[in-house]
Amino acid sequence: MDLDLTEEQKLIKDTLRRFLDKEIRPMVDGYEKTGRQVSREIVKKLIPFGFLGGLLPREAGGEGLTYTTYFLMIEELSRVWPSLRATVGISNSVLTHIYEYGTGEQRKRFMAPLLKGDGIGFFALTEPNVGSDTSSIETTAVLKGGRWVINGTKMFITNGMEGDIGIVLAQTDKSRGINGIAAFIVEKEMGYKARPVEKMGTISCPFAELVFEDCEVPGENLLGSVGDGLRQGLKFLNSARAMVAFISAGIAQACVEAAVEYARNRVQFGKPIGAFQLIQAKISDMVTLTSAMRLLGLQASDLLDKGRPCAREASMAKLFATDNVLRVAEDAMQIHGGYGYTKEFPVERYYRDIRYFTIAEGTNEIQKLIIGRDVLGLSAFK
Ligand SMILES: Cc1cc2nc3c(=O)[nH]c(=O)nc-3n(C[C@H](O)[C@H](O)[C@H](O)COP(=O)(O)OP(=O)(O)OC[C@H]3O[C@@H](n4cnc5c(N)ncnc54)[C@H](O)[C@@H]3O)c2cc1C
Repeated sequence: MDLDLTEEQKLIKDTLRRFLDKEIRPMVDGYEKTGRQVSREIVKKLIPFGFLGGLLPREAGGEGLTYTTYFLMIEELSRVWPSLRATVGISNSVLTHIYEYGTGEQRKRFMAPLLKGDGIGFFALTEPNVGSDTSSIETTAVLKGGRWVINGTKMFITNGMEGDIGIVLAQTDKSRGINGIAAFIVEKEMGYKARPVEKMGTISCPFAELVFEDCEVPGENLLGSVGDGLRQGLKFLNSARAMVAFISAGIAQACVEAAVEYARNRVQFGKPIGAFQLIQAKISDMVTLTSAMRLLGLQASDLLDKGRPCAREASMAKLFATDNVLRVAEDAMQIHGGYGYTKEFPVERYYRDIRYFTIAEGTNEIQKLIIGRDVLGLSAFK
């Protein structure tokens, strides 16, 4: 594995960093502090960089980016605005999902608005009683007169409030277990109810509870075939987990930059606090952990690019990065003293924005069980 970035990757990273610092950073506080949701206009500003559909081949409207290049872009975006990363990242994964499993007609109809940023995507798997145990989905879909009638509740759905095109997993026949689960493309106007659920961070990217009551979906909106719904969802998990390592590295990098600047400028006992050994120890831990997050992420993304199995590496990257970015964010706050606990400095937001990733994309306890299963050849799951 070559750890040097290519000239093209360096150029993309640099150009993107300059653009984000100049065009996007100035609006972040205004949105996050007032709870305003990321707008479609802002999402559209990212399209030229390939954030929407960039992983797809050119003939499908994409840029043919490698996972590694796309994740490096995600790292830069996370460094500046995690809520925007979440909005765009989920929409992009819906796009990739429809490209992978959609019919020609579904691709034509649903990919175009998502690629242009006119449509926002969401992915609905989790339910009030169904979290880590994804196989026990309770939402039902029953075929009646050529239409699927969906009943049930989905929980914590990112982009659920504003999303226009969602992939919803539902059980078509409980007696078949996971072989009865199917994925459906559901559009906003099909009539489910969305309720915002208040949360701790990534405030400008709200999530929602979605309630489906006899929500009718045309037969042709079945994505793939009945029985492969859960497998479709799980197929994207390795790339999602590898990506989380880069999201963590981006936020960790922001913490490092904020802490270094503060430590250079804050004077106590007649010296910048950065001159004290205990502060230097924290900064050195922060920088080392950030590099390690990135390296584990690169190991997983390299395997993804080569089309090789990477369940263990993706889980290790996700587990390590999300546990340790919390340490980095805590240290950044500690270095800021009392100011770190205020909303006048960004570090309290960095902590809030990354906190959920030990939970989402498979909790860190579940990552340990996946790694343990791979190492031992023994499964803790049923
Ligand atoms: C900000 C955010 C955004 C999200 N976005 C989406 C989205 O867009 N779409 C979507 O479908 N979902 C989304 N989720 C949901 C997320 O995927 C779930 O929260 C996650 O899968 C965990 O499920 P749960 O919350 O029900 O926890 P549970 O599964 O109930 O787990 C509770 C605790 O028990 C532990 N636990 C469970 N089983 C085991 C076990 N076998 N061994 C040891 N410990 C165990 C867990 O690790 C955890 O600590 C989002 C969540 C958050 C926080």
